[in-house]
Amino acid sequence: MHSSKSLELTLAILKPHIVKSPFALKNIHNIIIQNEFKVVRTRKSLITHEEASKFYAEHINKFFYNRLLTFMCSGPSLIHILARHNAINTWRQLMGPTKVYVAQLSAPNTIRGTFGLSDTRNATHGSDSQDSAEREIAIFFKDFDIKKWYADEEMYFNTGQVKFDFVSFVHNIAKNTDIYK
Ligand code: ADP
Ligand code: MG
Repeated sequence: MHSSKSLELTLAILKPHIVKSPFALKNIHNIIIQNEFKVVRTRKSLITHEEASKFYAEHINKFFYNRLLTFMCSGPSLIHILARHNAINTWRQLMGPTKVYVAQLSAPNTIRGTFGLSDTRNATHGSDSQDSAEREIAIFFKDFDIKKWYADEEMYFNTGQVKFDFVSFVHNIAKNTDIYK
């Protein structure tokens, strides 16, 4: 889709039980920053049933579909667009396996190994491909234009010309030389 030198975008969701737990939330946010992701957009939101059913459409026939939607709509989530080289795989590696006991036994230091409570409440979401990332970003960030971001903003994120705003948990473009001081 984009050159290998470009940053890749992924959609990360910190699920409702994480947003309710300041310790877990802070830990996961630290992991994001320590692993050199740039935070392109952040939205804290109670996901609607309509959004969740679009987002998880591929799982409509699974036995866990109803409980998954009920959980995802049970409280606010934090939804982030993250940018990095190899963002999709890196974030999924950091999350660890989907199932909580697999995560706890085979990858205890991953996000899901540490903060997953059950197969449903497994702490975080991460896109599984570039196509999924585009589809998922469009669901939660309706006015985010991916093509325009690559044309106008990617170069600033790629060359480190951004400044991190801890309060909003987002990187903003900083086109002046202050960032090097
Ligand atoms: P991933 O989130 O790792 O991409 P899937 O796309 O297979 O995993 O599943 C989507 C979400 O559905 C999972 O993150 C989890 O919240 C839930 N889920 C998956 N498998 C199960 C299961 N066996 N039991 C309950 N919930 C599940
Ligand atoms: Mg998935």
